[in-house]
Amino acid sequence: MVGRSPRGHCLPFVAAVLACAALPAWAAGAAPPKAVASKDLHSWEAGEDPAALDTWVHEHLRRADADIARLMVVKGARTVGNTLRPYDDAVNEIILSVAQSSVMYGVGATKELRDKAQALTQTANAAYTALNLNKPVYRALAAVPSPADAATRHYLEHTLLEYRLAGVDKDDATRAQIKALQDKITELGLAFERAVHDDVRTTIADQAQLDGLPPDYLATHTADAEGHVRITTDPPDGWPAQKFSNSAELRGKLFLAAQQVGYPANTETLRGLLARREQLARLLGYPTWADFAMADQMIGSPAKLAEYLGKIDAASREPGAREDTALLAFAQQREPSIQKISAADARYWQEQYRRAKFSFDSQSVRPYFPYAEVERGVLATAATLFHVDIKPVTGVHTWHSSVTTYDVFDGKVRLGRIYLDMHPREGKDKWFSTQPLSFGIHGRQLPEGVLVCNFPGGTPGDPGLMQYGDVVVFLHEFGHLMHHVVGSQNAFVGEGGFLVEGDFIEAPSQMLEEFFHDYGVLSSFARHYQSGEVLPRDLFTRMTRADAYGRASGQQRQLMFTAISVDFHTLPPATLDFDAVYRRDFERFNSAAFVPGDHFWASFTHLNGYSSNYYTYVLDKVIALDFFAQFDPQNLLRGPAGMRYRQSVLAPGSTKPAAQLVRDFLGREPNLDAYRRWMLAEFDAQTTASSSVR
Ligand SMILES: [Zn+2]
Repeated sequence: MVGRSPRGHCLPFVAAVLACAALPAWAAGAAPPKAVASKDLHSWEAGEDPAALDTWVHEHLRRADADIARLMVVKGARTVGNTLRPYDDAVNEIILSVAQSSVMYGVGATKELRDKAQALTQTANAAYTALNLNKPVYRALAAVPSPADAATRHYLEHTLLEYRLAGVDKDDATRAQIKALQDKITELGLAFERAVHDDVRTTIADQAQLDGLPPDYLATHTADAEGHVRITTDPPDGWPAQKFSNSAELRGKLFLAAQQVGYPANTETLRGLLARREQLARLLGYPTWADFAMADQMIGSPAKLAEYLGKIDAASREPGAREDTALLAFAQQREPSIQKISAADARYWQEQYRRAKFSFDSQSVRPYFPYAEVERGVLATAATLFHVDIKPVTGVHTWHSSVTTYDVFDGKVRLGRIYLDMHPREGKDKWFSTQPLSFGIHGRQLPEGVLVCNFPGGTPGDPGLMQYGDVVVFLHEFGHLMHHVVGSQNAFVGEGGFLVEGDFIEAPSQMLEEFFHDYGVLSSFARHYQSGEVLPRDLFTRMTRADAYGRASGQQRQLMFTAISVDFHTLPPATLDFDAVYRRDFERFNSAAFVPGDHFWASFTHLNGYSSNYYTYVLDKVIALDFFAQFDPQNLLRGPAGMRYRQSVLAPGSTKPAAQLVRDFLGREPNLDAYRRWMLAEFDAQTTASSSVR
């Protein structure tokens, strides 16, 4: 995911930033770039004092006001240089404020700092909403003659479109109402996420219930005097126990603890959020929030989405059912009393099935994925693929001593800076996300971004042995980061890669995931943390086959999340029964038994970030696999496709509509062929499955 990126965070308020344009922009009459001191770009350099963050954010918002004032005093003809440029400068200042207060909210050292950051995120968002409803600014932009340069033209046109979608042409009273609704939506969205973030639950397990868990997990989860072990809902703590524990009782408890995070606290918050969104959509002339939120996306409308999802469902339902039938038959061999696999046990049985059918125990590869080697490998893979150098930078002041810093170079040219904040700590956001810190302006400001993750390791003596799924997540997030850095080299901030249509944003990330399935790539860094032995080919083959199992039911699960996200933003909020709709969507796309007490929706934070548009993942999976199929399997990293991909998909940022980026790389419209092959690969592989291992 892209966590809390300005656009991903809440569609309407950054919606106006969209668009495009490459280098020729200031050749076409823009003002010369003004210099910016790099320390101005880093809120954290002001220290951990909440007041310092407050000062930093307000200074940038003050500069945004000054940029707008500069735009407004222009007498005479409007040009890109005297109007679009100061507008983009203001956007830059506000985006910096939104992005960095948002990051500090997730990673800030103290509760006081995180509280302040939460409030400032709201303040900065409000400034954005105000800009998007500023009628004189809109009129000034509308008076700029259509630029000759295609990229700048696209930026300007798209900005004007987003202004209209934001309601700038409504009367004063309506705009005031829109502004109040937007501010309330931001506030409620943050409160929803905060309730999830702060709600860490602990399950008490008996030592014996940890049977099945790996030794390093057991070593860090020792029993107290009464023989009790505490397991929290934090992913590195709770997920392995849910997947590996042989105790159905413990799995059930852990599952419910995780599925009740945010409940019941978020019930009214979510209802309030959805009600405000519906109200806003109606004010802007759309029947539902989903209609509004899809209007400026690749997909266009809920009706087109429904048609598309029908194709995805048709492609995945039957193979998904085959997987589920095989899984149930397997579980019944072990435990004949099982009628239906419980949702609480699904991950456990899938793991057992993979061990038996593919002789693959996912624990067996962990020693080959110590965190530090994986980090080196992911960076080296991306560097080769995208033809960049990624070099460590030392002596950089960040927000925490564990954060590492790298600069990204294209030859001698520095493209940007990335930060890796990769291990859990008290009070830090528990999820995995890529967040922008700054956007690039060619010749003046470099893009910076951060991965906020919670991978194993980070404490002395702990090699941080990763699950192979963790490595895939790392690649995914790094795909986002490269999209941001490589795609934010254009003339305007509003032309950055992350500001492309929101429903394209998960394509570059999911494309990079696919490189995990190549032995050449993996063997370049997967080495046993003790012996140094390279990941054996045979083990890799078994892992790949085991991994291919479950793809179709996984896609069905994505359709469930998609359905929740659309239904919650389509049905009337006042009477929406969250539990009933969630259960209906669950049962439509899952063969596992629903567990009463499962209130997953209360912690589904994508309802804030993606709102109705969670479909982005399935839409982009299809595109990502189509992209990946263009690479030469014999020469994945060093073939010509990598550079062509960088140039036609990443580098243009949002200077073109996303559908055009896709066509530019594929040379045609995307189709489902590669997606179908990917989903059915498991059934080819099963014929060579070997004997069972427990
Ligand atoms: Zn993502």
